[in-house]
Amino acid sequence: MGRSTPTTSPSASTERFVTLPYDGRVTKRYLVRTFGCQMNEHDSERIAGLLEADGMEPATDAEHADVIVLNTCCIRENADNKLYGTLGHLKSLKDRNPDLEIMVGGCLAQKDRELIAERAPHVDVVFGTHNVGRAATLLAESRLHGQQVEIVEAGELADYEAFPSALPIRREVDHSAWVVIQIGCDNSCAFCIVPAVRGPEVSRPFEALVAEVEQLAAQGVTEVTLLGQNVNSYGRDLARDARRAGEQVALAPRFAELLRAVGAVEGIRRVRYTSPHPKDLRPETITAMAETEAVCEHLHLPLQSGSDSILAAMHRGYTAERYLERLAAARSRIADLAVTTDIIVGFPGETDEDFEATLEVAAAADYDSAYTFIYSPRPGTEAAELADRFVDHEVAVARMERLRAVVERSSLRHNQARIGRVEEVLVEGPSKKNPDVLTGRTRQNKLVHFAAAPIRRGSYALVTVTDAGLSSLRGELLEVTAPARHRTRIPVATA
Ligand code: SF4
Repeated sequence: MGRSTPTTSPSASTERFVTLPYDGRVTKRYLVRTFGCQMNEHDSERIAGLLEADGMEPATDAEHADVIVLNTCCIRENADNKLYGTLGHLKSLKDRNPDLEIMVGGCLAQKDRELIAERAPHVDVVFGTHNVGRAATLLAESRLHGQQVEIVEAGELADYEAFPSALPIRREVDHSAWVVIQIGCDNSCAFCIVPAVRGPEVSRPFEALVAEVEQLAAQGVTEVTLLGQNVNSYGRDLARDARRAGEQVALAPRFAELLRAVGAVEGIRRVRYTSPHPKDLRPETITAMAETEAVCEHLHLPLQSGSDSILAAMHRGYTAERYLERLAAARSRIADLAVTTDIIVGFPGETDEDFEATLEVAAAADYDSAYTFIYSPRPGTEAAELADRFVDHEVAVARMERLRAVVERSSLRHNQARIGRVEEVLVEGPSKKNPDVLTGRTRQNKLVHFAAAPIRRGSYALVTVTDAGLSSLRGELLEVTAPARHRTRIPVATA
């Protein structure tokens, strides 16, 4: 959904390495560096799985890696500068270690393919978003024939290439998993490059998804997040295809049905999804959320703007009033629903009145948190062509500050309202900043810190909330209600 800088939500897009502690073995080691959204992180898990299936092991850092994969994202600001900066650094690494192999994948590779190969001849493989499944094969081919550039366009896909979930995987977290339910997007938001690089919406078969979740549950996974660019239109293309084949089926998404089916899988205690589109938030989805115990009480509903004229210029397909009506319908059916959003400030042509409308809608929506962004053009998008309507940067910064104040007010109020309550948290492990503290997430996706106790990550515990800040809660452990079910991965030692 065109994310970049989070303000108050803890679940921001990330850049991270897939790493494991060095265990002394001598074998090919890989490192995957991920830029971008959860979809990219999930693709990285698949790339890591493929390389491991090919006999490799994770490296501790770039210096110890034989293969480095950069999984790029063109939604982020300055994505190309960041990529070429990283490739420059890797060039000096490769000068010192000519055996180092470098691969560039992801949506920037899909878009800029030949340019990357030309500007960075030290890159061994360039591959796109639709041929993640060929990553290991392309690497082998580059050893025989030199640099490989292979980009598959949407529509030319084999099943395993279209849906990386069908590939081997190396998940970083054992108790929680992402499940890609759909790739691509049929919308045409003026600021977004996704449809151009990911292609039209293609949904995975319903039965395959349920089977995958059953398999995950059998492995001890208790929380799944359904991923897609526009998750709540899941299945519309399947219905279209079925109709073309002569079947009498309703031409409607099957997302609500999928929520119920996945939520009914034994062992799955939490179901989340991201990201839905407000125009596709149908009553049956709200009902399914309300009636399916495992579906968490959290709705991320991207607003983008509160001005109807800006929403029209963005091609979002809803008005502010319609958005607020749908939100009210969700809140009236789902008790204790946390709501988060994405908002762009300074979209081309945004006037003071447009921005005031955004402030009003943000206040009325009463968000738990928001990712707020200052608009920045993405080459290849419609809005990037509107240079004569770009908003002055200082004006956009000042607007952003005002928007943050509105969102932070409601965030703090929502968090403080939880003081004294007993929350179920899914334990994520020790806090990155303080090992004496454990962190976990509530069903509303709120981060809770509490004093460390001998609890495995992946366990469920009850915590009394004692304090609240802008982006997290603090609490005291009451009891563990369900210990982690997944097996712990034990590193294999060699003599
Ligand atoms: S709905 Fe599609 S086009 Fe619009 S922001 Fe999301 S991914 Fe981009």
